[in-house]
Amino acid sequence: MKGTPSKGKRSGKKTHVICRRCGGHTYHAQHKECATCGFGATKKIRRYSWQNKRFFGAFKGINLKRLAPKSAKGRGNRDRT
Ligand SMILES: [Zn+2]
Repeated sequence: MKGTPSKGKRSGKKTHVICRRCGGHTYHAQHKECATCGFGATKKIRRYSWQNKRFFGAFKGINLKRLAPKSAKGRGNRDRT
């Protein structure tokens, strides 16, 4: 089964817990590997050029507030002042 009945098997087990390195709720408790930063799988921080400009360094040295307000709005920056 792969529909609603099989979802009952998931009870009691956590797949992802809070990651010690990145703080995200993405550390796989059984695989011992973080889906966001790669903690447990690699010593380096898991990152890709396609994922975020902030990680890649495209906006390094650029004051984002001087750009258009839309581009200054990043992840986790939800409150608009
Ligand atoms: Zn992590």
